Amino acid sequence: MATTLHRAVILAVGSELTTGETRDTNGGDLAADLSRLGVHVVRVELLPDELDAAATAIRRAIDDADLVVSTGGLGPTPDDLTREAVAAALRLSPVVDPDLERQLVHLFERRGVRMPETNRKQAWLVPGAEALPNPHGTAPGWWLDHDGTLLVTLPGPPRELLPMWRERVLPRLRARGLGAEVAVRTLRLTGIGESYVAEALGEAMLRAGNPVVATYARPDAVDVRITARPEPGEDGGPGRSAAELEAEAERRVLAVLGRYVFARDDETWPEALGRRLGSRRVATWERGTGGLLAATLAGAPWFLHGEVVGGTDRADAAGETGRANARAAVEALPAVTGTDVGLAVEASLRGGDTLVEIAVRVDGTIHTEQRTVFLAGEQGRRRAALAACAVLWEALAPDPVS
Ligand code: ATP
Repeated sequence: MATTLHRAVILAVGSELTTGETRDTNGGDLAADLSRLGVHVVRVELLPDELDAAATAIRRAIDDADLVVSTGGLGPTPDDLTREAVAAALRLSPVVDPDLERQLVHLFERRGVRMPETNRKQAWLVPGAEALPNPHGTAPGWWLDHDGTLLVTLPGPPRELLPMWRERVLPRLRARGLGAEVAVRTLRLTGIGESYVAEALGEAMLRAGNPVVATYARPDAVDVRITARPEPGEDGGPGRSAAELEAEAERRVLAVLGRYVFARDDETWPEALGRRLGSRRVATWERGTGGLLAATLAGAPWFLHGEVVGGTDRADAAGETGRANARAAVEALPAVTGTDVGLAVEASLRGGDTLVEIAVRVDGTIHTEQRTVFLAGEQGRRRAALAACAVLWEALAPDPVS
């Protein structure tokens, strides 16, 4: 049985992936989870529905990694070949497992239809493999410990793959100690671009092997991810724990960029804003954003009222409320809606960019700001809504201690 899992290869199987008809999202989702657990993902490979190509890739993956995860190719048709490829790569013969076969037949009986003969291979197992149940489809996955390598095969459709991965595979990987030795922290930054973040952190920090400090430009933030592993002591002396190394790196990041950090780890904009709002409640007004500001804040307990005004041009009326622009809207919103904070955003196209006008009223003080988002269309509207969140967050900043 494999005891340590440090390196992983992810294989996404399906000709629809290699022809570009379907975009591979499974590979990225699995890679993200494994990286968070401290596993080095050596590569994510896309493979066509071809037996030789898949078997060769599996053999290569086994040489390069101690964890190999495949997605796709578990369907019943002749071009679903992942089971055959695993068997060929490991020189094992698949056999029909009677329990799986019974479950499969029962599944079709419940649907009131005869099971096509081609589906019988979904009841296959190779010696040593254990089936991973699939409550959302007919194809079970495989969990196979083989000569120091763990192979996991998963179905392709994300609605089948993700529950199997999260409910059946990740808990077992964690039970084997994956992630226990790693400390990970993500600091989420706003109001600063990724290259300025990288400049502030400096090359020495960004190129260090442990902790690894990496920057990621996301639509809603620039993330700084710190991943630390324990460091053994020299000459048998006491080493340093992952948590200690992570905390030290985090202090260094905060020392230079702390004022831009609005959230940590998986925290979202509504959660970050909620912390600064305290007991205050918010009403919004938006035009040209298609309601994306309200959609971003939806569900937050402090978000009481959202108005979405149509029209792409300023001349197109002000909406039923008669408010002509963002500033006028925030002047009126708190009194009309009985809230403490008003936030308004207007997005309009300027060539290929989106001009964003934002107004926020907090505790009677109005602040307005104009920003340009270098994107248009849906992406521009989304960024405009996020810019409004950022401006509100800044307006809610605690007064500096004098
Ligand atoms: P099925 O029993 O549905 O045939 P399968 O395991 O054989 O399951 P595939 O046939 O390879 O899976 O893929 C089925 C569908 O799942 C694809 O058409 C695609 O929509 C989706 N899918 C497959 N692989 C991926 C992937 N890597 N990323 C995103 N979607 C995927």
